[in-house]
Amino acid sequence: MKINIIGGGPAGLYFAILMKKADPAHQITVYERNGPDDTFGWGVVFSGKTLANLRAADTESHAEITRAFAAWDNVDVVHRDEKISIHGNSFSGISRLQLLKILQRRCEQLGVELQFRTEVPDVDSLRPSCDLLVAADGVNSTARKQYSNHFIPSLDVRPNRYIWYGTNKLFHGLTLTFRENEAGVFAAHSYKFNKTTSTFIIESDPKTWDTAGFSVLSDDETRGYLEKVFAKDLDGQPLLSNNSKWINFLLVKNQNWFFENVVMIGDALHTAHFSIGSGTKLALEDAIALFECFGRTASVAAALTEFEAARKPVIEEYQAAAYESMRWFENARQYLNLSPVELAHSLMMRSGRVSHEDLKRRDPEFIARYEADHESPAGTAGAQPA
Ligand SMILES: Cc1cc2nc3c(=O)[nH]c(=O)nc-3n(C[C@H](O)[C@H](O)[C@H](O)COP(=O)(O)OP(=O)(O)OC[C@H]3O[C@@H](n4cnc5c(N)ncnc54)[C@H](O)[C@@H]3O)c2cc1C
Repeated sequence: MKINIIGGGPAGLYFAILMKKADPAHQITVYERNGPDDTFGWGVVFSGKTLANLRAADTESHAEITRAFAAWDNVDVVHRDEKISIHGNSFSGISRLQLLKILQRRCEQLGVELQFRTEVPDVDSLRPSCDLLVAADGVNSTARKQYSNHFIPSLDVRPNRYIWYGTNKLFHGLTLTFRENEAGVFAAHSYKFNKTTSTFIIESDPKTWDTAGFSVLSDDETRGYLEKVFAKDLDGQPLLSNNSKWINFLLVKNQNWFFENVVMIGDALHTAHFSIGSGTKLALEDAIALFECFGRTASVAAALTEFEAARKPVIEEYQAAAYESMRWFENARQYLNLSPVELAHSLMMRSGRVSHEDLKRRDPEFIARYEADHESPAGTAGAQPA
């Protein structure tokens, strides 16, 4: 089979690896507009379950990924200068650049053709010459735009803004920090992803963002402002920018996932708010799901039909949980009247996927503290916002 893939991000590279490994006779080309080292972003997060999926799909790249990663089992919530740790959550982080280098090397080893610095402005130019065209071209997908009549996307620009930084302050565990100043409320999502660096994403609601005057601040002034907001958390370490800019989260869904021989995977197809796990996990798991469909049939039409039928309910469930989590952060201001332990409890249950009982099993000490702190612990509703 001849396969063209647009986008050398995690989704495109991983799908190329799995298909080429299964049948070296496939001719697979990945077209990537950037060079092999020009990437954005800092660390990406995987749950224990995602790592098990990666091990089952390709032991070689899994071994390299796990050699390079940082693992933890705690979520830390910082509110009113107090840190509450909740244990029993297995996660790990790896640098996005390192992950891409591992996947690029694996592609080269298997004989996938990687064409870097090659922009694909017109998807139709690649489509007729291949059996399958995979659009793994990210959140601003050219293919999604070009075939929007067929895919029927829904694009929801969310009100909160966020900015991705790195820092050399090491956060051992997924740390959610809330800080208030005269402008309003800021939330930081941070975690260590190698021996020297942590991801540090800052989120702000529109009222806070406007009051702080970010629209007229330069990149350096913005960074300086946010270093002051999180001064107690950063221990004097600067925020590291990788051309970091404020962005609004874009919630992407598509009614149809394929059109003739073109299929989308990863961020091109769907996004889920970063507070529930990384888009990288979904991108890699899409690649596995699509590959598995080709394992069951050689017909492109049948494989794409099965991919959409099998994977769509999984993604819809994930996006529904991510939506609740995103809404929690959009309304974070209303929760800050809660005590640190109540806030931590509400945060842990925000997506609706973790119950009070689940938390009790994972970290009985935390729940005992919550129940002692909170007069009416019963059940799953959690503490209520103002
Ligand atoms: C600014 C920013 C920072 C981020 N940082 C992090 C982070 O630190 N951690 C994390 O977990 N997630 C991060 N994310 C989210 C994460 O990048 C995605 O969820 C994940 O990478 C999705 O994988 P993908 O392969 O679907 O898409 P991507 O990783 O976006 O890959 C798509 C690739 O396609 C290429 N491409 C697009 N259009 C074309 C074209 N027409 N021709 C040729 N090539 C093309 C792009 O250059 C890109 O390399 C970040 C997102 C943004 C926007």
